Amino acid sequence: MSDQTPVITPLFGLRPAPSATRPRDPRPGIGGLAPADLAAWFTERGHAAYRARQVLDAVWRGHQVAFDGILTLPPALRAELAATFRFDTVEATEIRLTDGVLTEKAVHRLSDGLLIESVLMHYPARPDARERHTLCISSQAGCAVGCPFCATGELGMERDLETAEIVDQVRHAARRLAAEGRHLTNVVYMGMGEPLLNLDRVLESIAALNDPKRFGLGARHITVSTSGVVPGIRRLTAVGPQFTLAISLHAARNALRDVLVPLNRRWPVEEVVAAAREHGAVTGRRVTYEVTMIDGINDTDLDADAMAELLAGEHAHVNLIPMNQVAHTPWTGTPIPRVERFADRLRASGIQTTIRFNRGTEIGAACGQLAAEHAGQPTPIVVRRRRERLVAQSAAALRGERSAEPAPAGVGEG
Ligand code: SAH
Ligand code: SF4
Repeated sequence: MSDQTPVITPLFGLRPAPSATRPRDPRPGIGGLAPADLAAWFTERGHAAYRARQVLDAVWRGHQVAFDGILTLPPALRAELAATFRFDTVEATEIRLTDGVLTEKAVHRLSDGLLIESVLMHYPARPDARERHTLCISSQAGCAVGCPFCATGELGMERDLETAEIVDQVRHAARRLAAEGRHLTNVVYMGMGEPLLNLDRVLESIAALNDPKRFGLGARHITVSTSGVVPGIRRLTAVGPQFTLAISLHAARNALRDVLVPLNRRWPVEEVVAAAREHGAVTGRRVTYEVTMIDGINDTDLDADAMAELLAGEHAHVNLIPMNQVAHTPWTGTPIPRVERFADRLRASGIQTTIRFNRGTEIGAACGQLAAEHAGQPTPIVVRRRRERLVAQSAAALRGERSAEPAPAGVGEG
């Protein structure tokens, strides 16, 4: 096998790991190391400074899959590096293709056995646009927010990802693309987890992706999506990088949003939109709002009008996405004619609106679906109770009653 061949393990080759089963490998992943720290490591050991450059080039530009492949380094130094750092924090990867190979869903196994996902989407060139290759990456294993339509939310929170575990999803996809003479054009933090609840690591990973000496991806080609962690949005505004902020809005009415995005009980929708508006004003970047459309739940004329009122006067863009069917909800995605009606009402209020269709539905490409599949099935009684609870909660919300439940544990202050 050549160095450039992506490692593709057989379907279902990875074993389930519903919780941390093994201790984590204590060696830091090299992809998460800042260049200054790597340079310091070399100088402390009396190595020439240019060695750090050689390693960074191999990590970010090369096709090597281990320190042993960096042939410009003396063998003893390669061994020293391998004893101290991990070249790759992703131990095994299983890939599924769909949409006639336009979508590649990857499940990655981490050193403690946890599974995370990334999805690579290919967009062929059009007369008005160049070809794009967009990678959707995970920022946490699981998620504490617990949105009921999301497979990751159902899994619950496992742990934050390390910086290297975030960027290594990108390095993997970049290597797979490079083997075909293509390159990654966009990265979106829309996989498993809430990026703003792991913000330090997410910011470090963005710095690595954006750094011309490392991955070199323009900030404008990076999108961070949040379910509405207000302190995190404010921090992003203060740091001020120019990447795109996407807000998972889903509902403009608090009673309904309490159910669909449980951290709304801590940061209500008006606060989220105010923080997003300020982000847009300070950075000059247009904020994107995402709405996962659920049949009969958040797709009524009343919802469209409430959303139009909430976003009135904003330099915003709304993406409407019919919900991807996930196993344990009582709900289905909104049929297209109703999505179009919703879009028309928003547009009539002057809000730019696009309808998007989910990629990779057949391979379970919605957030966390594959990892959930690997984690095994809950018992039928657990599934029935969950569905009954969601039906009762959404019915109460549609009557305008706000949830008395507290915000989910682990959501913290962001
Ligand atoms: N936690 C962050 C980022 C990851 S989720 C957030 O919520 O924004 C990325 C996007 O996937 C969110 O907009 C989320 O609403 C959407 N999503 C999750 N499950 C989905 C499903 N079953 N169908 C369609 N979109 C879904
Ligand atoms: Fe977490 Fe986002 Fe899924 Fe909600 S939609 S549970 S915030 S990953």
